[in-house]
Amino acid sequence: MIKKILLIFILTLTTIFIGNEIDKKISAQTVEEVAQGPKILVLNYHQVANSFNPLAILPNDFSEQMSYLINNGYIPITPEELDAGLAGELELPPKPVLITFDDGYADNYNNAYPILRSLGIRATIFVIPAFVGKKNYLTWEQISEMSQNGISIESHTMNHYKLEELPDDEIRSELLNSKFALEEHLGTAVNYLAYPTGTYNLHIAGIAAEVGYKGAYTIKYGGVDLGSNMYALERIPIFQTENTMKDFYERIQYRQSFEEFGWRKM
Ligand SMILES: [Zn+2]
Repeated sequence: MIKKILLIFILTLTTIFIGNEIDKKISAQTVEEVAQGPKILVLNYHQVANSFNPLAILPNDFSEQMSYLINNGYIPITPEELDAGLAGELELPPKPVLITFDDGYADNYNNAYPILRSLGIRATIFVIPAFVGKKNYLTWEQISEMSQNGISIESHTMNHYKLEELPDDEIRSELLNSKFALEEHLGTAVNYLAYPTGTYNLHIAGIAAEVGYKGAYTIKYGGVDLGSNMYALERIPIFQTENTMKDFYERIQYRQSFEEFGWRKM
């Protein structure tokens, strides 16, 4: 028993130590603080298109999902608001949702953007600057227009390489060059990152913090709360499935039900 307690103690210390290394903004929270703090649903889309591409969701389904969120009291927020909400600098609405898209596909502009605009929904696109203007990807004009109309543009690295396979100096340039390219084209600050393919480790997260990002998103399944690491933020992936709408409702509910058990993310 004593051995077990000692082990838990050491594990906790280790976790707190590593956590502090890469995230100085959020100190270790108690289970109670996490339970009472904000709960943020972060959805992760890729394509919105009439195709059976595994990354795509049908425009009709996307429209239905956005209407569901609005009709059920979810309030779309930006990455800055999520950040400020977790830091205790901003009071978030009771049901905040961050809607994100990875890769910057052209259909985000052609199919998703008109739906988002018609419902007054803010969203975030993680763009790969080296892919901009290529076939099936957004152009700088489209990105610029959306950026001025409620869509936050953030970084998905310069070339979408698997970061864990790169040496440190290349990880740094992937993270920094994409940030600078976006900032130069848009004239706005780019402070958030989504890891390509969602893969990351503490070392990569540390570099993201070191080069100036304020937070980074993964595809680690779950909701964001005070127990989240700012450089390993959870998201709920939404893809086209056999029963897309049923899966969508279940995935949103899953987030709420695990919170009721007071499960704490490490
Ligand atoms: Zn991607």
